[in-house]
Amino acid sequence: MVLDKEESVSLVSVRSREKPRGCAGCNGKIRDRFMLQALDLYWHEDCLKCACCDCRLGQLGSTLYTRANLILCRRDYLSLFGVTGNCAACSKLIPAFEMVMRARDNVYHLDCFACQLCRQRFHVGDTFFLRNNMILCQLDYESCRLNGSTDMQSQ
Ligand SMILES: [Zn+2]
Ligand SMILES: [Zn+2]
Ligand SMILES: [Zn+2]
Ligand SMILES: [Zn+2]
Repeated sequence: MVLDKEESVSLVSVRSREKPRGCAGCNGKIRDRFMLQALDLYWHEDCLKCACCDCRLGQLGSTLYTRANLILCRRDYLSLFGVTGNCAACSKLIPAFEMVMRARDNVYHLDCFACQLCRQRFHVGDTFFLRNNMILCQLDYESCRLNGSTDMQSQ
């Protein structure tokens, strides 16, 4: 499962008596008056950059996007990943910046990622099954499995 994420970047001032924090970009100590806070980490203003165009993300409307291990600006995120696609459960379009769940080639709204028979929601690490392109919980999968071919994925 890959989670697309939109994260806010905040500029925080460093209190002089505070122990300097390590920068998540260069691993150096941050001794500037201001630093950036994003993804629960601290960064030099120069070190938080888009993986594609190298622009400084602290200056760009203060939002960044992550996908796998990439940190991207809004523009590059859009041009790389664009519209997410249609939700395999409700068939409605998923806007590019919405968090999605993925299973094989399918994408789902977070709210739609549930067993399509009993509507039980899945959590990260839960086991789910794909059968005839329907997501099923283990219980429903087991009872369906008795009749017909199997098409399973567990995660
Ligand atoms: Zn740094
Ligand atoms: Zn960029
Ligand atoms: Zn949906
Ligand atoms: Zn179920």
